[in-house]
Amino acid sequence: MKIVVLKFGGTSVGSVTKIKRVADIIANYRKKNFNVIVVSSAMSGVTNDLISKSKKICQNFSDSEHDVLVSSGEQVACSLIAGRLIHKGFKSRSWLAWQIPILTDGPHKHARINNLYKNKLIKYLKEGGIPIIAGFQGINSFGRVTTIGRGGSDASAIVLAKFFKAHRCIIYTDVEGVYTTDPNKLKKAKKIKVISYEEMLEMASLGAKVMQPVSIQDARLNRIDIEVKSTFLNKQGTLITKRSNIINNRIITGISSTHNDAKVSLLGVKDKPGVAASIFKPLSKNLINVDMVVQNISSNGKETDLTFTIKNEDLNKTKKIIKENKNINFRKLLFKKDVSKISIIGVGMITTPGVTFRMFQALANEKINIQVISTSEIKISVLIDTKDVKKALNVLHKEFKLER
Ligand code: ASP
Ligand code: MG
Repeated sequence: MKIVVLKFGGTSVGSVTKIKRVADIIANYRKKNFNVIVVSSAMSGVTNDLISKSKKICQNFSDSEHDVLVSSGEQVACSLIAGRLIHKGFKSRSWLAWQIPILTDGPHKHARINNLYKNKLIKYLKEGGIPIIAGFQGINSFGRVTTIGRGGSDASAIVLAKFFKAHRCIIYTDVEGVYTTDPNKLKKAKKIKVISYEEMLEMASLGAKVMQPVSIQDARLNRIDIEVKSTFLNKQGTLITKRSNIINNRIITGISSTHNDAKVSLLGVKDKPGVAASIFKPLSKNLINVDMVVQNISSNGKETDLTFTIKNEDLNKTKKIIKENKNINFRKLLFKKDVSKISIIGVGMITTPGVTFRMFQALANEKINIQVISTSEIKISVLIDTKDVKKALNVLHKEFKLER
């Protein structure tokens, strides 16, 4: 059995007209003799709308009822798709998670799929049926309906692809694929043909809009090829796959950028074991997300400087927490709003010397000042002023020949 899993996002099933188009896409795969498993999200806006209704009932709406409520959006979309396929003469039906069942563990709202019973679906596929499965939902060991986190139907699709050893998992969405950088920030951004799981995960700031990051990690662990493509244009999308499948000589695959970051520096911090932990513990307790962290070497062995970045909106809270922290001593606290992290990402840099230099030189030529640097195996990040982001994306895109 050659199986494909097709997942349709909220905008793809956002109206009756769009659902008809989706049914045509599904029918085409069936005509090509694929066994098709479909996973759908709720029609766009529906999940948000249900959540806001629950908030009007009460501010702390029950988590278990929340899951029953919000999972209903997928039920609607699935029955509309199945209904259209039946109308077109195909054998199709909707499947809710409890009917399969798809089992989850963990808390309501953030459960994780841990098992899936294949038997009924296999039988149905063998009879030539097209199952339309509600994404985002499961049931727990008490038989209660659960949901697996916002954007979770991506994860549902990956799990189905894994259990059925699908030939491919195709994520149909409202963009054409993954781009070398955000096309809203740089017009010249190009659609990437193939990208590795690792690069895709590093490009979270770009990728998250296309696919839920947890589901990419799941696909990576299970070696499932994912294609991201547009529901509305019949064009090749982006293939997310394992590194060994990728034959190109690109050094850099993409450039990501953040916005609304702020930089905090503590000068003259006592250099002794445990200081960094004392600084970050209260921040993490207050759910402040710390991104880049750099500590200078201590020139006199007694004091050091420490810099990190957070989101602009967390700055006031962070300042207060640091000033009130009795467990740390420092000479001076500095901070700066409106900085951005620009990262170049590519597995090619592992084997290519000089990438760091090329990045820095390209930025220097544009007189862009680098404030913080951090690197990982396949990523080099720099912190610059937000006002320089466009210029930086432009020059780096050119330097690493991403326009091709
Ligand atoms: N409908 C759910 C949400 O909006 C799941 C999904 O779209 O993947 O989060
Ligand atoms: Mg989605």
